Amino acid sequence: MRLILLGPPGAGKGTQAALLSGALKVPHISTGDIFRSNIKEKTELGKLVSGILESGGLVPDDVTCEIVKDRLMKDDCRNGFIMDGFPRTLPQAEMFESMLGENNQRIDAVINISLDDSVVVKRMSGRRMCPCGKVYHVLSHPPREEGVCDSCGSPLYIRDDDREETVLNRLKTYHDQTSPLIDFYSRRGLIIEIDGDKPIDATFQDILTALGRESDGV
Ligand code: AMP
Repeated sequence: MRLILLGPPGAGKGTQAALLSGALKVPHISTGDIFRSNIKEKTELGKLVSGILESGGLVPDDVTCEIVKDRLMKDDCRNGFIMDGFPRTLPQAEMFESMLGENNQRIDAVINISLDDSVVVKRMSGRRMCPCGKVYHVLSHPPREEGVCDSCGSPLYIRDDDREETVLNRLKTYHDQTSPLIDFYSRRGLIIEIDGDKPIDATFQDILTALGRESDGV
């Protein structure tokens, strides 16, 4: 199963991709996570992209596609993948299509998780992260003690690109550069529309149903 998750920042692509990866037994590939771990490890790539991520802009297409190409060569992608945050521009989508075509592969479906801008801003400004990987939200999923991780007790922090100014920039980038992909994949008959303004599990069930998978038998 080769899937792409589309949608504005904060629509829940990462959360749904992780759930789908478990259910469908294919890897979750997030270009954002790859960039963030390179920034953390202070690699050459990390140094190149850190300012771009902070501003809410996009990493150049050639750099991004090269990273995806390398990742897809790993053994675990044999039976498919869930792409989260890639492609994000029309040139990336075109390059991706030819990259897959070279191996006689193609995308099975593109899940477009939609969410209003006002909900995106509310969701993202309340997000709190823990260095251990747990994610909280001040309204929908607060920790037991404010600002402290339930699992490991570390202080929670706000991801740099969740700051309001960056969120507004990321939304603008999404509308300008990524939303044309809905049309690109609609023309190929691949788009599945999903309402992102529902609880996590309801959205997950909607996706499984749209993919023709039984929720308890995947
Ligand atoms: P995400 O975690 O998917 O929201 O990505 C975080 C940031 O990483 C984005 O705001 C971009 O700066 C960068 N990024 C992630 N994926 C891509 C991509 N496919 N093309 C360009 N930049 C990307």
